[in-house]
Amino acid sequence: MTGLTPPIPDSDDWQLLLSESVRTSRELLDFLKIDPAQVAVLPEAQLDFPCRVPQPFMERMQPGNPEDPLLLQVLPLANEAAEVPGYVADPLQEAGATPAAGIIHKYNGRVLLVAAGACAVNCRYCFRRHFPYQDHLLDRFRLNQSVDYIRSEATISEVILSGGDPLVLSDRRLYDIVCRLDKIPHLRRLRIHTRLPVVLPQRVTPALTGLLESTRLNVVVVIHSNHANELDDEVGTGLAQLRGAGITLLNQSVLLRGVNDDAASLALLSETLFSRGVLPYYLHLLDPVAGSAHFHVPEVKARELYAAVLNRLPGYLVPRLVREEPGKGSKSLLLPACS
Ligand code: SF4
Repeated sequence: MTGLTPPIPDSDDWQLLLSESVRTSRELLDFLKIDPAQVAVLPEAQLDFPCRVPQPFMERMQPGNPEDPLLLQVLPLANEAAEVPGYVADPLQEAGATPAAGIIHKYNGRVLLVAAGACAVNCRYCFRRHFPYQDHLLDRFRLNQSVDYIRSEATISEVILSGGDPLVLSDRRLYDIVCRLDKIPHLRRLRIHTRLPVVLPQRVTPALTGLLESTRLNVVVVIHSNHANELDDEVGTGLAQLRGAGITLLNQSVLLRGVNDDAASLALLSETLFSRGVLPYYLHLLDPVAGSAHFHVPEVKARELYAAVLNRLPGYLVPRLVREEPGKGSKSLLLPACS
């Protein structure tokens, strides 16, 4: 028998908020009182990756500002339709690293379990925006197969719940997954990659923290925040609850043109994360996924920014600047530009 705490019924507040998310550019611009004539958005008919923004995230955007750094991450712009050489549907070639449905096994010692096929927010730069989630949806049969794979590979010590975003799952569904993983003796850690505590902090409920607190696995939650404006007091409260449950909190960001490609923004992000109990972990170069080329920051500029941030902050507040490359056994670390 596992010692996991069975979930109490989900609070439906976060699910209600999630269901009320904005789903069109027009709604988003109307809410922010931005004249649609000021922004060239992608017509709805051309959207293969829909607009999706939860209200709590939208409320942190500045009304009337079409350049708001949070808005730019989620607003489908017309330049997504540009075909840019090198920008492809599967930039990390994950299709070749799936030994079982729902499993991506790229790195030694750890596997990624695609636990959910949706997110609370659709980030326009997402490297999985074209991922065939329908082929990986974890019904009971596929979950059994995934767990069998993890059980059969004794070298795996860590499972990363990813997606989509695993925290869009109900607590009951999460409990089912965590219970199964908890029983695999060679597993030591459970990592959860999620943007929910940032974009919909109401998701951090006592039921969720109770569940994560009760597994024997060491739990690491890696949030995803790209700008200090994302981290308001409500987000801080949720993060404090996760920390209070003994969970290690890390952050990963993506370097995005127009959003955070200046040293002041990056330094403030690190300072704010730390004040909320989160350690900066990775700053990723953009993965070249089709539709995202307008976010590209050249490597030479990224390395200059990295040097500038190192000059401003103590080392423990500086995330590692990395690039993911298909077929490599780990992320590639980039060095700061020499001054
Ligand atoms: S939350 Fe993460 S997985 Fe979901 S759309 Fe954004 S970047 Fe992609």
